[in-house]
Amino acid sequence: MKKIKGNSVSSGVAIGKAKIIKKQELHIERKKIHRNEVKVELSRFKEDINFVIKELDKLIQDYTYSKENRDILESHKMILQDPEFKNRISKLISDELITLEQAINTYFNEAIDIFSSMSNKYLSHKVNDFEDVAYRLLSHIMDERKDVLEDVDDNSILIMENISPSFVTKVFEKNIQGLCTERGSRNSHSSIIARSMNLPMLVNTLGLLGNINDGVDLIIDGNNDYVIISPTKSVLEKYKAIYKEEQNVRKGLLKLIDVESITKDGKKINLMSNIEIPQEIDQVLKYKSAGIGLFRTEFLFIDREDLPTEEEQYEIYKNIAEQSLPNSVIIRTIDVGGDKLSNILNIAYEENPNLGYRGIRISLQNIPIFKQQIKAILRANMNGNIKIMFPMISGVNELHKVKEIIELCCDELSTAGIPYNADMEIGAMIEIPSAVITSDSIAEECDFLSIGTNDLIQYTLAVDRDNQSISDYYKPTHPSIIRSIKLTVDNAHKMGKKVAVCGEMASEIKYVKLLLALGVDELSVSPGRLLIIKKEIIDCDIAEMKTKLDKILTCKTSKEINKLI
Ligand code: PEP
Ligand code: MG
Repeated sequence: MKKIKGNSVSSGVAIGKAKIIKKQELHIERKKIHRNEVKVELSRFKEDINFVIKELDKLIQDYTYSKENRDILESHKMILQDPEFKNRISKLISDELITLEQAINTYFNEAIDIFSSMSNKYLSHKVNDFEDVAYRLLSHIMDERKDVLEDVDDNSILIMENISPSFVTKVFEKNIQGLCTERGSRNSHSSIIARSMNLPMLVNTLGLLGNINDGVDLIIDGNNDYVIISPTKSVLEKYKAIYKEEQNVRKGLLKLIDVESITKDGKKINLMSNIEIPQEIDQVLKYKSAGIGLFRTEFLFIDREDLPTEEEQYEIYKNIAEQSLPNSVIIRTIDVGGDKLSNILNIAYEENPNLGYRGIRISLQNIPIFKQQIKAILRANMNGNIKIMFPMISGVNELHKVKEIIELCCDELSTAGIPYNADMEIGAMIEIPSAVITSDSIAEECDFLSIGTNDLIQYTLAVDRDNQSISDYYKPTHPSIIRSIKLTVDNAHKMGKKVAVCGEMASEIKYVKLLLALGVDELSVSPGRLLIIKKEIIDCDIAEMKTKLDKILTCKTSKEINKLI
């Protein structure tokens, strides 16, 4: 038996068998191409190589990697940038009339043969590098990074090096027990999505992959932040009992489905859900959520080859809005960028992606794509229960621009004789400090505000939400965050507008009473957290919590605030 430390993304115990998710075998089809196909293969080569170089650049900039790892990645980039490599691939395609995949395979197999026959130990190690680069390039070209989940059983605990937001949504479709990644951070989008699945998950379990094989017994203890490899019989029995107890608590919570979320002192709190993929509507309905407080639509744009059409988006939004009736659905326009990459939106490599081309900035620079999304939303709003919300608003300027675009979309739909309903509330996410400070003007310009605490913490405290090595600085109860929430709520209320919190702070039991005492009107949480948060709301006496508020607002450190809550 062995224990490995990690950081828990969602609490709870999981018991199962290890299933390592690693690279796929690639099957390269042998086939000749016609001379007039050479041009297409060469331009594919150019595009794909640029994509993989950008991907490597991003990893090289990732300081959660050790210097040694980053040096290796740098050497991989050099292999791809070598003019001899590019010439040889072009020549193989043009002279031998073979596909790009075969040319790359041939080139790397030759290189691997040469290096593996060398007696020089340093050079023979280069074989691993060539194998790695070949795999990275070919798996991208062949789009083979997908089907790794095919033979995953229900009792599996998946183990992988790291996980991207788009891959978590695929895991969501599987019935597994838990998930561990050797890297990653609690606050990344992947972790948020995993949490919404209510699945025990640990990140940062360094050394786990080197200590297990497929099929080994594993226990994730998400309550104490470690994973147990090959537990003894008595440990296994102990955890089986804890697991059973947790299932009972979960069952007990089901009794709250039909109970209203009203505090002890009688305030009704709208408790809504955050969804990332349309399938999550099932959980929203099952737990009778008071609507959808955040639909992260960017997941419709991630991990696919082409843009979703207006029609495709319209169908999805209409469906979700209809199923949610009589409750409302807040559709947030795409918030790609940062750790949510999309190859179809051509986001170039950036030094500081979280401070760069992200959210509303991308929409405002890609007006045709933005208009398609807005038109789809306007058309889907025939029952009038959709609200639209914009991410990464830094001030009123962006709101003025989006309002103009909404008007333009209405004009175009009217001219084309397409039915739509523009009677739709407009909301802004408050997740950048400049938006907090100007929240009075922003509230005046729109119908509601929703505080995105995940980014607000990242930007206020200047701490990358994806970087586990500085995660101690990521403090939801830092006095600056609590005062920012208070300022936003007060400014919105002065303008007669409501404020929700849709960041992860709303999904954490320990912050619920504080948020309500700060005057937050609505909470939007992962569907899997709805009932446990409802329990906390029912148990909350806002008036009593408010007696502590003056003191909380004068605290100098998050430690002092944590003590008071
Ligand atoms: C947030 O920033 O708190 C938020 C809800 O948006 P996202 O996590 O998608 O950035
Ligand atoms: Mg955000």
